Order: sequence, then C-alpha cells, then structure tokens
Amino acid sequence: MVLSCVDVRKTFGDHVVLDDLTLSVDEHEVVALIGASGSGKSTLLRCVNLLTGIDDGTIHLDGEEITDPRADPDRVRQRIGLVFQSYNLFPHMTVLDNITLAPVRVHRRPVAEARAQAMQWLERVGLADRAGAYPDRLSGGQQQRVAIVRALVNNPRLLLLDEVTSALDPELVGEVLTMIRDLKGEGMTMVLATHEMGFAKQVADRVAFLDAGRVLEQGPPEQVLGDPVEARTRQFLARII
Ligand code: ADP
Ligand code: MG
Repeated sequence: MVLSCVDVRKTFGDHVVLDDLTLSVDEHEVVALIGASGSGKSTLLRCVNLLTGIDDGTIHLDGEEITDPRADPDRVRQRIGLVFQSYNLFPHMTVLDNITLAPVRVHRRPVAEARAQAMQWLERVGLADRAGAYPDRLSGGQQQRVAIVRALVNNPRLLLLDEVTSALDPELVGEVLTMIRDLKGEGMTMVLATHEMGFAKQVADRVAFLDAGRVLEQGPPEQVLGDPVEARTRQFLARII
C-alpha cells in the first residue's frame, strides 16, 4: 500500500472539513476523488502533502507515518508530487528552471542531475523544445503539463492532482488528460480530484465519492458512477451530468 489515511480529522475553527476520513491507495492504483465543491477533496490532498496539519488520525506513505510530528515535511514532499488547478509556474523563470528549482534549492540535488532528469521528462511528454521558454509563451495546456513534470522530477511515489484541467479552455483539456493516462500506463500511483466524470471512468481504478469530509462510497468507476449505492452519490451525479 502506498498511501493510507486512517480516521483523518481536519477542522477549521468549528468547521469539520475532514470527518474521520479513511482512504487507502495501492501501488500503481489511480483513485479519482469526486464530490461537491466544499466536500474536502483539496483539503485531503493538502493534508497528504503536509501543506496543512491534521487534528486527528494518521497518514502513512509506504508504511511510514508522515503525520508523525518528527517526520521531515521536505523529505515527505520529495516523495509526493502535488499539482494544483492553477499551474503556479514562476513567470520570470524558464520552463527548465521552473522544474529544477525545488530539486536544487529545497532537496539539494546537483544542478546537472536535476536538469538532465527534467530534460528526460520534457522529452517524454513532448515539450523538450520548450525548455528554454518562459511560461507566457506556452499554451495553458503546455503550462499545466510543465507543472505536472515539475511534480514528477523527483520521481515521486505518489502523484496528487487537484482539478488540474478545471482552469483550462476546453480544447486544451485533452492533452493534459492524455498525459495523465500515459502516466497511468507507466504505473504511476495517483490520486486525482476531478469534475471530469468521463475521464474518471476511463482512467481511475477506483472512484471515491466524498461527502461532507467522509468517503461515503467507493468502488470501480462503473459501479460508483453508473450504479451508485448511496442516494447522495446519485444526487451529486444527477446534478453534474
Ligand atoms: P473541495 O476541494 O472538495 O471543493 P475543499 O477541501 O477546498 O473542498 O474545502 C472544504 C471545506 O473546507 C470548505 O468548506 C472550505 O471553505 C473549507 N476550507 C478549506 N480551506 C480552508 C481554510 N484555509 N480556512 C478555512 N476553511 C477552509
Ligand atoms: Mg478543491
């Protein structure tokens, strides 16, 4: 098992955002998180990446408790890539520098090694010729693919994708989804929050429906999306399709 969240509780003031949430992800598995806006998808991903602390419960990565106060967040983040809806590329840095910034500055990897690895990834995703370009010279789809490469350059055990196509023009969504599908083909373990039910159906091994900070229902995409058990899942799907 790569990821195991057990009874994770997260509150903001008296608002319970993750309500004893339990979710595990196996190696090479792709889990799609679906659920209404505000159900806790982004918060869960941020907790897994230790961007925000939890109030109770545990999160294990490869059997190691990363929510242990003694765990080093930088070391944990080296093993977990997270990509947000907005690409967050630094506008004043080239594509290559955007990708190598964290490995070199935070994780103290040799510059040449980080650059070589970044170039390998850019070649794999067909963006090698953009390495020296600044983000504003790239399409939104290309920028988001660069942001995904930036999350992959440390060869993470787990990739977290938070609505990575939501900010894109419709005609640019496909290239990002294709990239994610290719990553699945290479065996990448992923958790992705998405509104794209068609894509969740295609790429996910399992769909988990979040409702008010809990996993209300999970299972194979055909089951959860096609024949959900819970009334709230049916209501959600009826509203978005
Ligand atoms: P989703 O990604 O499923 O739309 P979020 O995880 O973003 O849901 O949000 C879940 C709930 O937590 C929302 O009600 C949101 O307002 C609240 N929330 C998220 N981040 C914060 C924060 N930093 N401070 C206070 N409330 C927050
Ligand atoms: Mg969100």
